[in-house]
Amino acid sequence: MRSSVAVFVGTQTSHRCFQTLKLESSQIIYQRVQNMTTFLEPYDPPSWAKDLKFTPKFRVQLAQPNTPIHKWNIPGVPERFSIHIKRDDMTGGTLSGNKVRKLEFLLADAIDQGCKHVCTVGGIQSNHCRAVAVAARQLGLVPHLILRSSAKSASDIGCDGNVLLNRMCGAHMYVVPRASPYLPELRPRQERLAEIIKKQTGESTYLIPVGGSNKVGLFGYISAFQELQAQGALEKFDDLVFTCGSGGTAAGLSIANYLTGNTLRCHGFLVCDDDVYFYDHIQQTLEEVGLPHVNARDIVDIVPGYKGKGYSISTEEELDFITDVSIKSGIMLDSTYTGKAAYGMVQELAANPQRFRGDRLLFLHTGGVFGLFDGRMDAVLKKTDSETDSIKMWLNKTSDPS
Ligand SMILES: *Cc1c(COP(=O)(O)O)cnc(C)c1O
Repeated sequence: MRSSVAVFVGTQTSHRCFQTLKLESSQIIYQRVQNMTTFLEPYDPPSWAKDLKFTPKFRVQLAQPNTPIHKWNIPGVPERFSIHIKRDDMTGGTLSGNKVRKLEFLLADAIDQGCKHVCTVGGIQSNHCRAVAVAARQLGLVPHLILRSSAKSASDIGCDGNVLLNRMCGAHMYVVPRASPYLPELRPRQERLAEIIKKQTGESTYLIPVGGSNKVGLFGYISAFQELQAQGALEKFDDLVFTCGSGGTAAGLSIANYLTGNTLRCHGFLVCDDDVYFYDHIQQTLEEVGLPHVNARDIVDIVPGYKGKGYSISTEEELDFITDVSIKSGIMLDSTYTGKAAYGMVQELAANPQRFRGDRLLFLHTGGVFGLFDGRMDAVLKKTDSETDSIKMWLNKTSDPS
């Protein structure tokens, strides 16, 4: 508190005060960095993952553990199937979604390596980037987000959805052209930014790949699978359904399922790239953890065909499906990921029921709720005579609503 008083005095008065302020704030930073290591907990992998070639040393606690599993009355599912939902949209409040689990390992690694900054990449409404911003601030790290957008100037960036939370975290945002591919363009930009930060502050930056999907982030969904196991999901369900965006969730779940005896059949509904891309990603991950003899195609079913018009582009039919689901079941799906995957699941259950091992399905809700606030839903929600536009004026207390 005392130092924040100094801020106001300093801005009003002399240069000397400003120097005091600088000294005080560097002491605060010093304390913060000292404390960061106290977040680290040694990570003890489940017995079935102990022999992997790579396991992380540390973990930090970010996610709300044991997210609920409950029955889901999702409309449009053929009678014989029963659907449950695992609520990883409840891994936290502003920290909601699947990226939080990956960040427990990625940010632990960042702290262990002595980094004070973290830098990642994604679309302007990236859930992953927002989760990095929030989690980094919780741990005392400085977030830097490289965001793809068609914006021409910084003033075009509003305060919608995830961007509002990025701003509230004081995340440093760098807007790059929408069509920048990750490996050839964004990775080099991350490295360049790390050099700039090093030059300016002497501090190191931890680089997180798109979606946090590497062998460190992998353990987010290895440990989520351990949680599923403890919740009895391996006995209660035949099939596990989830969204595939950068492949880390798919890799973690399907590798863990393989290591525990292939009890479930895993289905990843892709929302970008193609099935070959995700099989390759999972194959590469298998190699990195010392399981090169396992074929990705044998441990996961990547389902193409439901990315619609393309990544983060929605059709009216998809958005109508999302509102039908929220009206009939109270579950909010997001338009970029879970909405497309759930839509795909319902279609496949009718058209290709043999694709599923049994009739008891568990759908993993990977989050993304803040994306709903990006404005894309407005037109669908305000459609005249729709159930989502049931608004009556009732200004006069003596008359009925009209
Ligand atoms: C990132 C994301 C996914 C995709 O997960 P990956 O591990 O990147 O494949 C799914 N749903 C939501 C809401 C996400 O933000």
